[in-house]
Amino acid sequence: MDERSNAPFGSQPAPTRIAVIGAGPAGFYTAEALLKSDRDVSIDLFDRLPTPYGLVRFGVAPDHQKIKSVTRLYERTLQDPRVRYLGNVAYGSDVNLADLRRHYNAVVFTVGANADRPLGIPGEDLYGSLSATEFVAWYNGHPEFADLDVPLDSRTVVVIGMGNVAIDVTRILAKSVAELAVTDIADHALEALERSQVERVVMVGRRGPAEAKFTTKELRELGELVNADIHVRADEVAPDAASLAAVAGDVNVTKNLEVMAWFAEQVPSGKPRAVELRFLLSPVEILGDERVRAVRFERNRLVVGEDGWISAVGTGEYEEIPADMVLRSVGYLGTALPDVPFEPRRGVIPNDEGRVLTGPDGSVVPGLYVAGWIKRGPSGVIGTNKACAMGTVASLLGDSLPSIEPRHATPEAIDELLAERGVKVVDTHSWLRLDAAEVAAGEGSGRPRVKRVRLDQMLDV
Ligand code: NAP
Repeated sequence: MDERSNAPFGSQPAPTRIAVIGAGPAGFYTAEALLKSDRDVSIDLFDRLPTPYGLVRFGVAPDHQKIKSVTRLYERTLQDPRVRYLGNVAYGSDVNLADLRRHYNAVVFTVGANADRPLGIPGEDLYGSLSATEFVAWYNGHPEFADLDVPLDSRTVVVIGMGNVAIDVTRILAKSVAELAVTDIADHALEALERSQVERVVMVGRRGPAEAKFTTKELRELGELVNADIHVRADEVAPDAASLAAVAGDVNVTKNLEVMAWFAEQVPSGKPRAVELRFLLSPVEILGDERVRAVRFERNRLVVGEDGWISAVGTGEYEEIPADMVLRSVGYLGTALPDVPFEPRRGVIPNDEGRVLTGPDGSVVPGLYVAGWIKRGPSGVIGTNKACAMGTVASLLGDSLPSIEPRHATPEAIDELLAERGVKVVDTHSWLRLDAAEVAAGEGSGRPRVKRVRLDQMLDV
């Protein structure tokens, strides 16, 4: 008997055709896990942008090139003959769910979380109030954010949030142009940062130092800035007893506390910029008439819940921090996809171990899967998506998949459909040409690459 006839999907034509929607880390780890399985697979990896790698290109900070080197593994996946890259194809407009159902046995959504979580306080829409996700996308050359108005005539910037994104944006604002000029930061951002008037960046957390979400390596970098002194208040970084008990044994938090205690001992050495960390302050209003003038915070105290969770409770005391710009860095948020169930509060597609459900407690939608941030929310580092994708692929491989008509079951059939619709697909070969052109453009100036930012510049290659 043919080995494939033992497969749960029965008599449908092999190989199993799988569409992966979103070519970021979760998409690549999904493809990799499928390739490593013993199933005969044919994978089409879609992205709405011409360029693959998602948050590795548009989220990871430009001065963190080591983290970006993970793309070498993704490149290997792209070069596997069982994988095709279909860039510049938008789910929802160029292809819809009905199309995918006709051409693939399974669809895995790995679209990430591309919006930002709002604070829900007055003044959030004032000029000078931006989300960190927009600012990050702008300096990383995301085509949709190239024209973002970033008021870098600001002297003081308040960054709300104590995660790694808050640290990234703080560091980029604090670094000198000379340090950034050897990275792959977008040219428009480098030019704007050259004129930056920023002198002080204040990162503000609503809970205490032991509850901060950042990792120690990233925190340490704030104390090593050539251009900025670090300021923390000894009384604010001394953790309370309840927090210490709650985090006992947590290596990251213990190290974070040590680093912050060391920061508190540092005497400012007169560098042109200052980075400050403040704790136990919840933003209640962004103040200003047309432009941000200050942020009003309520001072908090920490309370331990019955489940051990430490939350911040307002004390009724307030403090204003003057600011010309505010970066809200309180987390990414997934957005709904056409024809796919969605849980708006959590910003995820409801799922059971990666199998899409009709709703949070609903039934399984056969043939639809999910991995990465749109499956579990915006948490963890890039590598976290590997285990997440492997879990989804294990579910997929164990399921009976819907069959597809033989005439739709070939790569050529979807190519024809896209060509009929006038979609300019960027395939692996075209992406590698664009990649090589960007890398070559950086060679003369010691940069890893010079990113093409506008879609037409990308498609020109
Ligand atoms: P995050 O780690 O979840 O941090 C969000 C921060 O916002 C927390 O400090 C949170 O405080 C705070 N916050 C949430 N709601 C708030 C509110 N209403 N008012 C005030 N503060 C509020 O999110 P992220 O920084 O966006 O990072 C997303 C993920 O990407 C994380 O897993 C992160 O580690 C990862 N990442 C990694 C790197 C790296 O490895 N170098 C770089 C960037 C991002 P509470 O804790 O009190 O909720």
